[in-house]
Amino acid sequence: MRGYYRHTKIIVSLGPATESREQIAKLIRSGVDMIRLSMAFISSAQVGEIVARIRQVSSEVERHVAIMLDLQGPEMHTGVLDHDVDLQFGQEFEFFTGAPTPGRQGVWVNHPGLPGDVSVGDSILVDRGSIRLEVTQKEAYRVCCVVKTPGTLGSCKNINLPGITPDLPPITDADRDYLAQGVAAGIDFVALSFARQPKDIDELRALLESHGSPARIIAKIEDQVGLRNLDGIVAKADGIMVARGDLAVEIDDHILPLVQARIVESCHAHGKPVIIATHLLESMVSSPRPTRAEITDVTDAIKSMVDALMLSTETTTGSYPLECVTVLQNILESVEPKEQRRLNEAMRLLTPKSKMLRSAAVLAQDLDRSGIVVFSRSGSLPYILGALRPRSVPIYAFTDVDAVFRHLLLPWGVEPFLMDFSDDPEITIKNALAYLRRRNWCDPGTWLVVITNALAHGAIIDTIQLRQVE
Ligand code: PGA
Ligand code: MN
Repeated sequence: MRGYYRHTKIIVSLGPATESREQIAKLIRSGVDMIRLSMAFISSAQVGEIVARIRQVSSEVERHVAIMLDLQGPEMHTGVLDHDVDLQFGQEFEFFTGAPTPGRQGVWVNHPGLPGDVSVGDSILVDRGSIRLEVTQKEAYRVCCVVKTPGTLGSCKNINLPGITPDLPPITDADRDYLAQGVAAGIDFVALSFARQPKDIDELRALLESHGSPARIIAKIEDQVGLRNLDGIVAKADGIMVARGDLAVEIDDHILPLVQARIVESCHAHGKPVIIATHLLESMVSSPRPTRAEITDVTDAIKSMVDALMLSTETTTGSYPLECVTVLQNILESVEPKEQRRLNEAMRLLTPKSKMLRSAAVLAQDLDRSGIVVFSRSGSLPYILGALRPRSVPIYAFTDVDAVFRHLLLPWGVEPFLMDFSDDPEITIKNALAYLRRRNWCDPGTWLVVITNALAHGAIIDTIQLRQVE
């Protein structure tokens, strides 16, 4: 039998450090479950080619990954610079929304309403809050500032105005273009930056439906408005990302751990996947080893039972992208097996079928060497089983739908398999068990709790069955 079974998933963001075929192959082999593409590094015109490259490499190395397309939404950011600019203390610098002012240093911003949103004396925070400028003067198409906290400004850096909600649509024209390319290329998940209210999710879902895309929606919680509407957004979305890069700047950063815990709790109650993103191993952008604080932060996230850990700068422009994945793997392997066997008690289960899944999870946890086998065409049963968090119990999810197979790469504990189903449920079960045995997923003698339809005197009924691997 294979060794340790990992329950928490790993997501990486693609950028210059990792977008080559060789690097993608190494990342997939190292155990990455999902790859994120974002506009900061991959243009709309490149999406089709990059998605095709990932799919091809993935079939060559015979390991699957899901692909998530990250939309910018109402995120405020600077434009492209020819070269990095060193901003010195006291230096004048301007943000313009139209054309640059000849002879003055500045950068374009994607938010035309910026001059109206700030007052003289306000702070403008750039690049995760690491650079701070103070507004000295406003004009129709520009905001003049003086640098208060110096730093080096690169291209396409986020801008934060804590407490101010920019008057930008939830899905911009650039997002629509990006999404059209992504959908045509067959992406699996779409992330919406700065999700502010439940209807933002409805709008994105309608857009996906108009494209005929089955992609699932991940709402990124990254500001105070999104946080205020948290439960409504969690209820509508298919998953949540705790986007700590922006969130920590938009709120008082000392409460970030409490806010993270609150978001995770809401996702557990709704049974929705939750991803912890950004600054997990930030020091590894330039160092081969993580700090003690980073190891502790990652450990805490794993112990709080999140579905996935996401690397950002560590893998887009960092010097040690593969080492970062190895560090996450090592922490996971030491933390997960120590977790006590118990279920997610916070989850509200509404239907008899979902209550049946809890019984299956209880049974599987009661057995010593065990697993759960589930068959699904929509993915909903494996998602619920993952959300129940049956610690130490693998969830082997079989589906005959290609897109669903990749959707199942995200939820905690779920290992998906693509397989044809027979009209006779018994044959389907036999095929699944034989497959698991053949591929060494379980040893003879392993108890499997099988959730399946069965034929009983002509009727189809839901059953939980106990089978032993031969
Ligand atoms: P970003 O989102 O990397 O697209 O800004 C994640 C975050 O803000 O943490
Ligand atoms: Mn963000």
